[in-house]
Amino acid sequence: MNKKKNIILLGATGSIGESSLRLLRKNREKFNLVGVSAHNNAELLSKIVNEFDVPNVVLSNTKNAKSYYGRSELNVGKSNLIELAKISCDVVISGIVGMSGLYPAFAAISVGNNLAIANKETLVSAGQIFMEKSYEKKAKILPVDSEHSAIFQCLDKNNISNVDFITLTASGGPFLNMPIENFKNIKPQDAIKHPVWKMGKKISVDSATMFNKALEIIEASVLFNIESNKIEVVVHPEHIIHGLVHYKDGSTLANLGLPDMITPLSVALNWPERLDLNLKKISLHNICNLSFFQPDFKKFPGLKLGWEVLQNPYLSPVVLNASNEIAVDAFLKNKVSFTDIYNIVYETLNVSDSSIPKNITDVIEIDKIARMNSLDLIKRKFYK
Ligand code: NDP
Ligand code: MG
Repeated sequence: MNKKKNIILLGATGSIGESSLRLLRKNREKFNLVGVSAHNNAELLSKIVNEFDVPNVVLSNTKNAKSYYGRSELNVGKSNLIELAKISCDVVISGIVGMSGLYPAFAAISVGNNLAIANKETLVSAGQIFMEKSYEKKAKILPVDSEHSAIFQCLDKNNISNVDFITLTASGGPFLNMPIENFKNIKPQDAIKHPVWKMGKKISVDSATMFNKALEIIEASVLFNIESNKIEVVVHPEHIIHGLVHYKDGSTLANLGLPDMITPLSVALNWPERLDLNLKKISLHNICNLSFFQPDFKKFPGLKLGWEVLQNPYLSPVVLNASNEIAVDAFLKNKVSFTDIYNIVYETLNVSDSSIPKNITDVIEIDKIARMNSLDLIKRKFYK
């Protein structure tokens, strides 16, 4: 019998956390959950600790510790989150949102832990540094983002030179069919209602602006070492096909699946083996009407920036990500309009440092200044 895999789950209380726990719950004989983290939600964290009997527990926001009632001792604060990721295990899952996931994810690979990463903001900002460290430490970086999991599964890793190009599909988000004139009136509560996926607020807004796909273009270029002009994006509202790899010999491999993050998570935790998850089956009869469109760059100008930051040396992916995080946060707090998310990112890109970071300290510094630039722009120009 195979030994159980020890798993550490960062961001256990979020949407990726919830899908990960579903996977672990279904497969208790395969996995031990040896560590979990949350930021605010001490109550849900306690429930998870008690259900899975988790020995190592961290709440990164020290303020909320009073509500914790889990059976295991609670550690609080950011440095304990980093220590948690360093505990030797089979796979660390990073389901933390935004750049807050950077240090713990980097800590995980720095001690040689394999990393199943959903937290795309970290790969966008520090991808190259992560890939080099993972190579040095022989720690695998396994994609969880569904499109990247699709490409990972279709890719013949040793023969990347045989690939002509790849396609990432995009559901198009909740405003795919809304006339552009109405975009300025979009409210946060509308933007967080995704038609296909149930996700955290930040990625839901990113899907609505299609900045999510811009981040994913950069994420794909890092994970698969592929040039930006070989990454295509196609809008596919049903989101049944997640990604395609087009080989030079004319063969195209596609990955299909009903939209549920449990599958890419299972791929990341078990590759190259597969678990029987006993999910609803895909029926080609039921999905006979799949649709595909070119993205509308007028409605979703943020998408183009994914290619542009990879092609233009004066634009930085770190800045793109940082300013988008600030702009989305301001939009969710009703301080700026939906359409200004793009304007804030665009203007921040044009006033910020575009140097290539050599290490994590550089990334943090560029990120910090970009955030200040975006906040300053919001105050001066975009505040509603
Ligand atoms: P959620 O907002 O649902 O969850 C975020 C998790 O991170 C929560 O556990 C939260 O804790 C924790 N967290 C929040 N802020 C901090 C912080 N400052 N420090 C440490 N932990 C923090 O997000 P999602 O699960 O939707 O997304 C997580 C990541 O996965 C994102 O990068 C997203 O882009 C990516 N992703 C998500 C997909 C999805 O289907 N949801 C699909 C593909 C990628 P608490 O609840 O206590 O606040
Ligand atoms: Mg995705």
